[in-house]
Amino acid sequence: MSADTAVVRPTLAVWKFASCDGCQLSLLDLEPELLAITRAVRIAHFTEMTRAHVEGPYDVSLVEGSITTDDDVARILEIREQSRFLVTIGACAATGGVQALRNFVEPGVFPAMVYAHPEYLRALGTSTPVSAHVAVDYELRGCPIDRFQLLEVILALLAHRRPIVATHSVCQECKARGTVCLAVSGESACLGPVTRAGCNALCPSVGRGCFGCFGPSEGANVNSLMQWLRSHGHADVTLARLLQTFNAAAPAFREAAKNLVATKVTLGAAPRTRKERS
Ligand code: SF4
Ligand code: SF4
Repeated sequence: MSADTAVVRPTLAVWKFASCDGCQLSLLDLEPELLAITRAVRIAHFTEMTRAHVEGPYDVSLVEGSITTDDDVARILEIREQSRFLVTIGACAATGGVQALRNFVEPGVFPAMVYAHPEYLRALGTSTPVSAHVAVDYELRGCPIDRFQLLEVILALLAHRRPIVATHSVCQECKARGTVCLAVSGESACLGPVTRAGCNALCPSVGRGCFGCFGPSEGANVNSLMQWLRSHGHADVTLARLLQTFNAAAPAFREAAKNLVATKVTLGAAPRTRKERS
C-alpha cells in the first residue's frame, strides 16, 4: 500500500498510576475483540502489552490508577494536554481506590504498619481521583472494570457517539438473573441497592453481599440503606467496613460510613453473613 492510500488509525494510549493493573488486564482479556481493536486503532502506549511507545498527541487515553505522588500530578497534567479524549478506568482512577483509606488517617500511619523503613517512601498524604486534577471525558467504573463496558466505550469513541453504559443499581442485574435477595432473606448485608451495575451481580449470585466495586449508583440514598440494614441486625462497624473498601472515598460512601462510626476508618474483618454473625 502506498503512503497516499494508507489509512491513518486513531491512536490509543493506556497509562498506569497507583493501581494493581487489573483494569488494564481487562483490555487484554478481550482477546478476540482485542485483535479487531488493534486493526481499528494504533496502540501508542500500553506497557502491559508492548514496549513500543509512540509520542503524542493521542486520540484516546485510558487512565488507570489514582494520583498518589508529585510525579503522578505532573504526569497526569501532561497526559491530559496530549489527549483528545481522556477516559478513566476503574475505582482507583474514579474515586482513589482502596488506597484512599489513607485519606482518613494521619499521614504515615499505614506505611508505619507495613514497612520497616517508611522514611524512604515518597508519596502524597492522599490518594485522589484523576478528576481532582484534570478534566475527565468519561469515567468507567468497577474494580476491575467490565471488559465489555470498556469495549463499548472504545467503540463509541471511534463512532463519535455517547457510550451506552448502565447507570442503574446492581439490584436490577440481580433480579434479572433470578437471585434470591440476600438482604431481604437476612443472609447478608449487601450494597447492591446503592451500587452501580456492571458486574452482573456476581457476588450475590454466589451468596455474598455486594461490596460496592462499581461505586455509588446515580442518586443512591446510602444513609437510608444503612438504616434499613441496621434495623435488620447488622452492626454499624460491619456496614462501615462494607463502605470502606474499593470506593471508600466516593462522597456518598464516605459520608455514610462517617455517619455510622466515630472512628475515621474501620480495620479488619467484621461479620456480615448470617453464618459469620452466629
Ligand atoms: S480499580 Fe481495582 S482492579 Fe482496577 S486497578 Fe484499581 S484495584 Fe486494580
Ligand atoms: S442480593 Fe443485594 S443486589 Fe441482589 S437484590 Fe438483594 S440487595 Fe439487591
